[in-house]
Amino acid sequence: MADCKFLIRFWGVRGSIPAPGSETVKYGGNTPCIEVRCGEQLIILDAGSGIRKLGIELDKEMSIDATILLSHFHWDHIQGFPFFKPGFKSDNKFHIYAARKLNTTLQRLMSGQMMYPNFPVSLNAMAAEMKYTELNPGENTILKGDVEIKTAAGHHPGGSLAFRISYRGVSFVYATDTEHYSYIDPSLLKLCKDTDCLIYDATYTSEEYCGKVGTPKTGWGHSTWDEGVKLAKAADVGRLILFHHDPEHDDDFIGEIERQANEALPGTIAAYEGLEILLWIGD
Ligand SMILES: [Zn+2]
Ligand SMILES: [Zn+2]
Repeated sequence: MADCKFLIRFWGVRGSIPAPGSETVKYGGNTPCIEVRCGEQLIILDAGSGIRKLGIELDKEMSIDATILLSHFHWDHIQGFPFFKPGFKSDNKFHIYAARKLNTTLQRLMSGQMMYPNFPVSLNAMAAEMKYTELNPGENTILKGDVEIKTAAGHHPGGSLAFRISYRGVSFVYATDTEHYSYIDPSLLKLCKDTDCLIYDATYTSEEYCGKVGTPKTGWGHSTWDEGVKLAKAADVGRLILFHHDPEHDDDFIGEIERQANEALPGTIAAYEGLEILLWIGD
C-alpha cells in the first residue's frame, strides 16, 4: 500500500529569517517546516515560511486532518502559518500542539502575529477547524494511527520543545532551537536514545559560537554541528541531520560544514529543501 510508510520531507531548513537568493539555492532559504507521513497520519513540524509551499501541495488533497507540532513561537517557526492555504478551508482540520506558556493560551499566541495592524486578516479568517493542545515538556501523547509523540525541553530563550515521533518501531527526533551545555543535556539524551534519525540545531560553527569569529553566540539558544555529533554518538542515533542553518551561511559554507560533520560522523547530512528521508516502508 502506497500510504504505508514513515517519511520525512523538508520544506524549510533555515533559521531565524528567510534567506532567499542565488547563494542559498542548494539548501534553501525558507524557515522551518517539515512534513511527516506516518501511514495515513500527516504531521507538520513547525510553521515557518516553508509551510506556504507545503500548503500549495496539500491544497490538492481533500479534507485534510493533520497534526501541527510547534517547537516554539519565535517568528521563524510560525510566520508561514497565515499563508498556509489549507488553513482557510472549512473542510480541513488541524490539531496544533505546543508548549504551555504562563498567562496566555496557544490560540492567543497563534493569533498574535495576525493581529491588526500587523496583518490584514485575523486568525478567525482561517476557516479550518483548529484544535489546540498545550503540553508541558516531558509530556507525551498518542495520535491516531499509533503514532507516539514524546517531548523534552530545549534550552532556548523563552523555551522550546523537542519532539520524538515514533511509528511502527521506528523513530526520529526533532530538536531545533536548543543550545548545548558544557555537558550533554540529559533530557535530550534520553529523548534521542537509539532513535533512527536526529534533526538537530546546527546554526553555528563552534568558532562562531565561542566568538573566535564574530560576536560570541553564548546564550542565543542555538547549537553547533560538533555538539550534534556528540549528542548523536552518546545516544546511538542512526543518522544525524543538521538543521536551522544560519541565514548568513551560503551554500558553499554549509557544504563545508556538511563535509566536516560527515568526517566526524559518517552519514551526517545538512538538511535541504526537498530532502526526503524514508524511515520505514510497509509491504
Ligand atoms: Zn528558529
Ligand atoms: Zn527560536
